[in-house]
Amino acid sequence: MILYTNIGELSWSTGGTKPQTKKLSNVWLRVKDKKILGFGTGKPETTSGYLSIDCKGRLLTPALIDCHTHLVFGGDRSAEFCQRLRGKTYQEIAAEGGGIQFSVTQTRSKSEDDLYATAMHRLEKFRRRGVTTIEIKSGYGLSIDAELKMLRVIQRLKANSDMKLFSTCLALHDAPKDMGKNAYIKACTDELLPKIAADKLADFVDVFLEKGYFSESSVDTFMQTATQLGLKVKVHADEFADSGGASAAANWKAVSADHLQAANPEGLSKMAQANTIAVLLPGTSLYTRIPFASATKMREAGLAMAVGSDYNPGSCAIENLAFLACMAGVHCGLTAEEVFASVTTNAGMALGIQKEKLQVAEGNSLDFCLWPFHSWEQWVADAGQTMPMETYINS
Ligand SMILES: [Zn+2]
Repeated sequence: MILYTNIGELSWSTGGTKPQTKKLSNVWLRVKDKKILGFGTGKPETTSGYLSIDCKGRLLTPALIDCHTHLVFGGDRSAEFCQRLRGKTYQEIAAEGGGIQFSVTQTRSKSEDDLYATAMHRLEKFRRRGVTTIEIKSGYGLSIDAELKMLRVIQRLKANSDMKLFSTCLALHDAPKDMGKNAYIKACTDELLPKIAADKLADFVDVFLEKGYFSESSVDTFMQTATQLGLKVKVHADEFADSGGASAAANWKAVSADHLQAANPEGLSKMAQANTIAVLLPGTSLYTRIPFASATKMREAGLAMAVGSDYNPGSCAIENLAFLACMAGVHCGLTAEEVFASVTTNAGMALGIQKEKLQVAEGNSLDFCLWPFHSWEQWVADAGQTMPMETYINS
């Protein structure tokens, strides 16, 4: 049993399409059996039997949630980043054997133990930044065996970390170089999906829906099969060009569609009707100089917005989620309230968690961060420079 006392400000986001920030000053909060037992202002009536934590008048918020990462991979692509700064294009680097295919070769060559150790180290970097819930995608295997290897690594991370991890099969990240695209899609549908469902190796399936990669019609059977097997759906949609990704995500009743810089307004409206969350990934835009997604367009469509890091070896090596949320405010046009929601309540919704379960409310299980701030506005304006003083995993 834990009793948080002397909380200067307790803030959380209501989430959804028009998120409000709830805040209480001078607060105590009790947690019993991993659930919030109660909270109130002033001094608590009883402290006996509780482990008491003095929050010293600082800001307590729900811990951060990263709803989009690719943190299991082999190899190092920092030289590519430097080549881009020297003026080389992504296409030139890819033609020389770099890009995603480099990550595929490296990931295939690494043992499960190696991939596990490096991924666990990366997870700890996220935790230090206040992230306790995180989604991790496969997608650098691009063969049935190598995708299964990546998913087993994520399963092992789940078993051995106290963070809450969600696993996503992104076997359709790109077409493999050593197999035809249609044959690969068919193998993923007929062999990989049943195996994943039987061994509970993924919570979600995801696909890179983009001109030159995969189209809605080419992967429709894959997505329908995944749904029938009980897997939920996410989509990498319309990052570079309007490829009908937003509309496809709505058709598949996807939990989220991510990127969306080039999505058309009709597709975004369809997403809103399907309750699909829009996930903005500003880190990729900052890191590779592609346009930012427009929060204005998404707000007009009636979408709830989350922000993910898109942490990956090539197009965003930034694990500072609070910084990226602030950048989504500056560059995509999120309001301060939307910034706060984007990496807490709305990020949880992008992982299929009910909005009601993400509120500071009796009976809910929430992790918390204690920040050396006096208000949630200070947290937004700090742009992720400051680590939490403590991170409490209660769930
Ligand atoms: Zn991604």
